[in-house]
Amino acid sequence: MDLVIRLQSFSPLSSSHFRKLKTVNFHPICSLYYNPSSSPFTEKHSIERYQRDEWLYNYKNQVEQITSCSFPPDSDSIRQDDIALQLPELKKLLQVLREKRESEGCGGGKCGPGDVFLVGTGPGDPELLTLKAVRVIQSADLLLYDRLVSNDVLNLVGPDGRLLYVGKTAGYHSRTQEEIHELLLSFAEAGATVVRLKGGDPLVFGRGGEEMDFLRQQGIQVKVIPGITAASGIAAELGIPLTHRGVANSVRFLTGHSRKGGADPLFVAENAADIDSTLVVYMGLSTFPSISLKLIHHGLPSNTPAVAVERGTTLQQRTVFAELKDLAQQITSAELVSPTLIIIGKVVALSPLWPLSLKEVSCLVEAK
Ligand code: SAH
Repeated sequence: MDLVIRLQSFSPLSSSHFRKLKTVNFHPICSLYYNPSSSPFTEKHSIERYQRDEWLYNYKNQVEQITSCSFPPDSDSIRQDDIALQLPELKKLLQVLREKRESEGCGGGKCGPGDVFLVGTGPGDPELLTLKAVRVIQSADLLLYDRLVSNDVLNLVGPDGRLLYVGKTAGYHSRTQEEIHELLLSFAEAGATVVRLKGGDPLVFGRGGEEMDFLRQQGIQVKVIPGITAASGIAAELGIPLTHRGVANSVRFLTGHSRKGGADPLFVAENAADIDSTLVVYMGLSTFPSISLKLIHHGLPSNTPAVAVERGTTLQQRTVFAELKDLAQQITSAELVSPTLIIIGKVVALSPLWPLSLKEVSCLVEAK
C-alpha cells in the first residue's frame, strides 16, 4: 500500500495533521516565549539560587558584608564563597543528623542507613514529574541536583529539604563524580533520606548507573524513580511519534558527545544511518555538523526531516525544523544553546509544526 495512504488511514494524527499544515503560518523557529537571558534550568548560578540555598551559603554573613561595603559584591565573589562555605555547613548538617539519630536510639548503626533515591525530573515541565517523584522530593532531607533540573521542579522541595548544587558552572569548581559519591554515602550513613535529582530519566545518559553501582558496593540500597527522558517529553510536545507503523520501526538514543571535546561524536554513524529508524541525539549541539555529514555519507537521505529543540517542554522552548542537510546551518543561525535535543527521521514530518508544504511531506514519506 502506498505509504502516504497508509499513514492517513492508520494514523490518528495524519488527517488533522495535513489539514493543519495548510492553515498554519509556519516559521522555521518556533518559540512560545523567548528570553535568552533567563533559563528555566539551574545551569547558571544566580543570586536567587543562592538565596534559595541560603543554609549553605551562610547568607546572613553575606548580608552583613553587603551592608558594610560600599559596593555590592559581584556574583563572582559570591561564587568563590560558595565552595568555601559549603563544606563546613555540610559537616554541621551531618553532625545534626547524627545527633538526632543517636537521640532516637539509633547510634552505632543500629537503625541502618537512610534511603537514597535516584529521581528523574523529566525535561523541565514540572507537570511531567511522576507522583512518586513529587512525594520523595517533598520528604527528602538532602537533595543534590545539577544543571538540567528545572527551577520549577526545585520549587517543589519541602521547607526542611536542604538543596545542594553539584552541577558544573563553566569556569568554576564543579564537584567531581567521586565527591558526589562521598556526599551521597555520608548522608545515607547518617540516616538521612537523600535524593539525587537528575534531569530527564536518571538512567539515560545521566551517569545514574555509576552512582547506583558505587552506593550498592558500599551496602546502601538505591531506589530509582524514572523520569520522562528528553526524547519522549519533546516528541510529545511537538506531536512526533517516535515510532510509527510503516514509517519508523525503531528508535535510537545516541550521544553526540565527543572524545576530549573534539568535533567527532562517539557513536558510529555507519550503524545509525537507517532510514527506517528515528534517531534522537542527546548532547549533540557542538558535534552536529559532523554528525549530519556522516549520516548523509553513510546513506541517510539528505532531505530526511529533522528538528532541533532547545529547552524543550519549558516556556522558553525553541524549535528549528529543517532537512538533515540544512539543520546544522539553521542551528547556527538560530544560535541555539544547551540543552538542545535533535530528532532525525521521517516521523518528524508528521509533526503538525513541520513547516514544509503538504506536497513536500508526501515526497518525504514516500521516499522509502
Ligand atoms: N538524563 C537526561 C539526559 C541527560 S544528557 C534525559 O533522560 O533526558 C543531557 C542532554 O539531554 C542535553 O544535552 C540535551 O541534548 C538533552 N536534554 C535534556 N533536557 C532537555 C530539554 N529540556 N530540552 C532539550 N534537550 C534536553
